[in-house]
Amino acid sequence: MTNHAPDLTLLAGPAAMSQETLAAMSRQVCHPDDPEFRAGFRHAEEMAAELMRAPGQVILMGGEAVLGLEAAARSLVRPGQTRALNLVSGPYGRAMGRWLRDFGADVGELEVPFNEAVAPGAVERYLDQHPQTGLLTVVHCETPCGTVNDLACIGPAARARGVLTLADCVSTLGGMPVETGHWQLDVVVSSPHKCIGGPSGMSLVSVTDRAWAAIEANPAAPRSSYLSLLDWRDRWHGTGQFPYTPFTAAVRGAAAACAQVLEEGLEACIARHAAAARACRAGADAMGLALWPASPDVTADCVTAIQVPAGLGHEAVRERMRDRYGVATSPDPGIANLVRIAHMGPAATGLHAVTGLMALGRALADLGADVSIGAGIEAALDVLAAAAGPQCAAR
Ligand SMILES: *Cc1c(COP(=O)(O)O)cnc(C)c1O
Repeated sequence: MTNHAPDLTLLAGPAAMSQETLAAMSRQVCHPDDPEFRAGFRHAEEMAAELMRAPGQVILMGGEAVLGLEAAARSLVRPGQTRALNLVSGPYGRAMGRWLRDFGADVGELEVPFNEAVAPGAVERYLDQHPQTGLLTVVHCETPCGTVNDLACIGPAARARGVLTLADCVSTLGGMPVETGHWQLDVVVSSPHKCIGGPSGMSLVSVTDRAWAAIEANPAAPRSSYLSLLDWRDRWHGTGQFPYTPFTAAVRGAAAACAQVLEEGLEACIARHAAAARACRAGADAMGLALWPASPDVTADCVTAIQVPAGLGHEAVRERMRDRYGVATSPDPGIANLVRIAHMGPAATGLHAVTGLMALGRALADLGADVSIGAGIEAALDVLAAAAGPQCAAR
């Protein structure tokens, strides 16, 4: 047990923040009616909508992304009436299914092993065989697994059949394309604390007019509640009053982080995440380690999930990485003995990935595994050297 802070934070959320974001969060509090704060809040919403490529309104709820997800699910489910299809390719999808059932939906599920993604063809077949389905829920990147579901196919398939979608894009926004409009997604929930590089404690929720109509028509949709999307729309977007007092530091941190991504350019930011992930995958492979995702086409760019060799436990490996080498990674929530190197926000650079790999490789070697650390690092650096453009964060 050590009590020093890690030198390098490679968590799969909250991601490390830039100095500029940290500085924005350290400003004095103000009343939510302060005109500068109000203007900043509106600007943050506009930036979030731009990043989400959302045609409709985006609501910034004060509360970790779980709040936005629960609020959206509760708003869309009509107890005893809603038939939902929930896609399960990891723990977040499984948790959504529990919520939907709790809220009174009749839930069908398509579940795949947690190293795979749900095939869009299977979704189409299910929806054709179950035409009463009114709601489809899907997680974009299952962060604990490092896998992605194909929202570009699943969104339009649902829309074509008149099915509303609720997509959890918490860990992909800013790190992989999230095309809310083009993919015809009705409600998208995200957060600043992953690839945007902002603080935790905020939910970004985009809602189409079709989804608002369904929510308004739902007598069970929360009102006068912390979970209410309608309160945010009618009060903040309507009369200009906040439903509750926003956490000023989180709002300012989210705004600063969104502004930095837009300044860098969303596409450049996504390309930076992709390059870091490519380097990490090549390095892990050359080190002799196996990735967890079953195939390259289901592998996410915001986090690389690597299997710990047989005979060793992920807890000991992570502890060694942190305590001896100062590299913090997120725990495996019981998937399959994995260590994850995240590529999120300012930490999504090639050398962050390389440093993560070095710490992982050496921790494994210290614990007795046979790994080719040097070969892994060279392979990762080769990817970076061959990549187009600088492989560093904008700041
Ligand atoms: C991070 C994350 C959330 C938010 O949940 P926390 O575990 O509280 O951070 C929701 N969905 C996905 C896919 C996430 O990666």
